[in-house]
Amino acid sequence: MTVSDADTLLRVENLTKHFSQSSGILDTFLSNPPVRAVDGVSFDIREGETLGLVGESGCGKSTLARTVLRLVDPTDGAVYFNGANLAELSGSDLREQRRDMQMIFQDPQSSLDPRMKVGPIVEEPMKAHGLYEGEREERVRELLEKVGLDPQHYNRYPHQFSGGQRQRINLARALAVNPDFIVCDEPVSALDVSIQAQVLNTMQELQDEFGLTYLFIAHDLSVIRHISDRVAVMYLGNLVELAETEELFENPQHPYTEALLDSIPVPDPRSRGKRGVLEGDVPSPIEPPSGCRFRTRCPELIQPDEYAMDADTWDEVLAFTRAVKRRTFEAPDRTTVRREFFEGDTPDGEVGEVVDRALDEVLADEWDAAAERLSETFEEPSICAREDPNYVVESEYGTGEHLAACHLHRDDAAATRDGTEGAPGAASADD
Ligand code: SF4
Repeated sequence: MTVSDADTLLRVENLTKHFSQSSGILDTFLSNPPVRAVDGVSFDIREGETLGLVGESGCGKSTLARTVLRLVDPTDGAVYFNGANLAELSGSDLREQRRDMQMIFQDPQSSLDPRMKVGPIVEEPMKAHGLYEGEREERVRELLEKVGLDPQHYNRYPHQFSGGQRQRINLARALAVNPDFIVCDEPVSALDVSIQAQVLNTMQELQDEFGLTYLFIAHDLSVIRHISDRVAVMYLGNLVELAETEELFENPQHPYTEALLDSIPVPDPRSRGKRGVLEGDVPSPIEPPSGCRFRTRCPELIQPDEYAMDADTWDEVLAFTRAVKRRTFEAPDRTTVRREFFEGDTPDGEVGEVVDRALDEVLADEWDAAAERLSETFEEPSICAREDPNYVVESEYGTGEHLAACHLHRDDAAATRDGTEGAPGAASADD
């Protein structure tokens, strides 16, 4: 998607947030590696659009949101809002930009002070920014009506409202200072499904009326599909795919996105042939995998050029490698293991030799040695482990740019983006 500067409200370039693990004097000497919560993420958001941000919990979505708003300082990278680099602003300029960037949190209960009435809660940001002096109460009542609440609720306490109503109070509070941009961090996750749709519809109506731009974070893909114009998918601190909503849902181009989509519950399980069950745990953000961060769980890891084997054999070798690394099977004897992984016999040639030696090690209860041998031979030389993927692929369901951080597109991608870790991210820098 080519986005002109005139259309862009927010531009995030190579944004990185690492957290130190040091907590005491001893730690400062030990210099523990940092937690790489967000690594080289770039994207942009046009005025009036909703960019959905999706990924499993712990993937860095909320840290990214807080870093975008400068609630936490970035380790590296830049955020441009209305063309201004937030890192270069201070004093009243920064305060002014911050007023235009608001946030709504997941838990509508804990984000409202139970001792305060609704009126003062919504007035608070106006007071903080010295706005609407003398007309605050009137404005609050108007806002309550806009978000679907009775203006008479001005004098009630948060505990007198349902979860959905409390999130509407949060919306009114965010709107109080007339912002351009709202980060919505899982705003409906804590609500009943029936209430979710109502709140989402209200958010869309408010967006139209006030020309709002949303960065909408959720782990629920049906919510993301409902509200987003474009969707960014995040995994282990990186963006792995970014496309227009229909394009992403109908034509996903990253194995992680495919797995997420396959995991959406459907009323009739027979209506989908394949259920995407992601194997293995998400690796630690302290030592993320080299190259593509999804490679330790990817079912489509590309086989290394050094070894020629057909696709079925590669699938068997990869499954065996991962099972050894995770110790997910019993190894009573060679025949049983061969039967479990290789339909009776290990592969021919050099590949078979490595597999057989690893099998000997497993049978000798030397699992770590076997895992190292298999990983060094079959995983580490893969392009997936050696290079950061970074591609633009063709869109089938829209005119916008489709970014996919996956080397499966290395031959047919329309272009390759260079220079920025965290692939799809690089897009905005060049647009
Ligand atoms: S780059 Fe390789 S490991 Fe990563 S998603 Fe693509 S095929 Fe899978």
